[in-house]
Amino acid sequence: MAIVDDIMVLSMMSIGLAFDLITMVVKDEIILKQRRYFKSGQTRDLEVRLDALRRLEIYLIEHQEELLGALDRDLGKPRVESYLSEYFFLLQEIKLVKASLKKWLKPRRVKNPIYFQPCKSMVALEPFGVILIISPWNYPIQLAISPMIAAIAAGNTVVLKPSELSSASEGFLKKLVEECFEPEQVAVVTGGVEVAEELLELRYDFIFYTGSTEVGRVVAGHAAKHLTPAVLELGGKCPCVVDRSANIDVAARRILSGKFFNAGQTCFAPDFVAVHRDVKDALVTACEAVLKDVPWDREMAQIINGHHYGRLQHLLSSAPSREIKQGADAATRHFMAPRLLPDTQWSDEVMKGEIFGPILPIVTFDDSEQLTEHLQSYESPLAYYIFAEDKQWVEKMSRSIASGGVCINDTMKQGSNLELPFGGVGDSGYGRYRGREGVLAMSYQRGIVQRSVRAPKFMDILPPYEKAYQWIKRMMG
Ligand code: NAD
Repeated sequence: MAIVDDIMVLSMMSIGLAFDLITMVVKDEIILKQRRYFKSGQTRDLEVRLDALRRLEIYLIEHQEELLGALDRDLGKPRVESYLSEYFFLLQEIKLVKASLKKWLKPRRVKNPIYFQPCKSMVALEPFGVILIISPWNYPIQLAISPMIAAIAAGNTVVLKPSELSSASEGFLKKLVEECFEPEQVAVVTGGVEVAEELLELRYDFIFYTGSTEVGRVVAGHAAKHLTPAVLELGGKCPCVVDRSANIDVAARRILSGKFFNAGQTCFAPDFVAVHRDVKDALVTACEAVLKDVPWDREMAQIINGHHYGRLQHLLSSAPSREIKQGADAATRHFMAPRLLPDTQWSDEVMKGEIFGPILPIVTFDDSEQLTEHLQSYESPLAYYIFAEDKQWVEKMSRSIASGGVCINDTMKQGSNLELPFGGVGDSGYGRYRGREGVLAMSYQRGIVQRSVRAPKFMDILPPYEKAYQWIKRMMG
């Protein structure tokens, strides 16, 4: 009987292995097809790129309701949040890229050394080839399509692997890609971590990854194997500091608006607030008033799944601070009421990792030196928020730490302006994208020199060298 069981297990294992092998071959096949298509030169044609962007734009417009519905099913996002941060944001980016791409792609003329003359030198943007995009669940459609827009505009092909955790959006993206593109231009591969790992075993010309810092390190390791360039858009703990000189009522509204958008599941949301001791009570009172005044319990997204809901509840149970909360949690639908933790200490557990949920710890500081010391003890974040009207204080604090972006007297605006590069530094990642920056990120700059055949013959450096050497020394000084 034991032998029969062993045979059964072995044959199951070999079926599993064969299945793995087949899926691997299928993925490899997609990349081969895309590489062949890329090498045919078709993606270099401006019209091909614009045409792909137009198809994407039309699809989004015609499927707006489906898109909003998918986000509602995955995260219970309020419609206005989905509309602004996913649908409208993407349409704006497509519009900008379509209108500017020809200008951005125009080779940039640069000066020439006198001894190259007559000659023309320029810098041209060249596509990399096949790009792997791995996206997360928190803005599941925006963070899959925004890098795709850049990749297509830059003349690449794309293999997209959306997050498996936001399954309705994953389904939407699969349908979108299959209906808008031929697989040699854009393909989608769905599945979980094991699928992402298999995909990363293969060779690409560029990798664009958005997600946690921990997984970012794994992705960087795979990229290094083939010396593949990459952009890593990662997470972190984004501080929000409030000075004595700040307009407290404005600060309260804007901090809470950024923190509770998408229930705090935004990579560049303010993670915690550090407020000057003199204005702490005023800020807590103002935040409490905003919290009580706004119907967050009816109009806030839910937590993506039970795992993250449990993680956040566990974090709360370890927090010694009293809490000020509005509404009630609803475990069955992973809804977590927004709350402030106004008596948090810098050493509390909630001040250690990225929160990524609707919990706002508030800590205090006495002077900018003490605050700087605390801020510098964290890894570099994606965003940094400063509320103050004292210009010198703003200047001083903005230089106190490195961060991907800074926003003064508001939250999140630096991540929503397509004219600004978006990305992290240190543990929050490397590389930039959005609008023109995205096209730059997914291209490499090729230096081109075109010399005239009528340039003087003596500039062609050939042995015997002595005469040329004397002449060059005289000319160059
Ligand atoms: P995640 O890292 O768990 O997953 C992101 C993607 O990576 C998914 O598609 C997933 O399938 C894949 N993945 C997971 N484990 C993998 C592995 N071992 N190997 C290869 N691929 C793997 O991240 P998440 O939980 O989806 O997203 C939350 C994190 O992402 C937060 O830290 C947040 O700050 C960060 N984030 C950053 C940005 C940014 O623009 N910088 C944007 C959104 C989210």
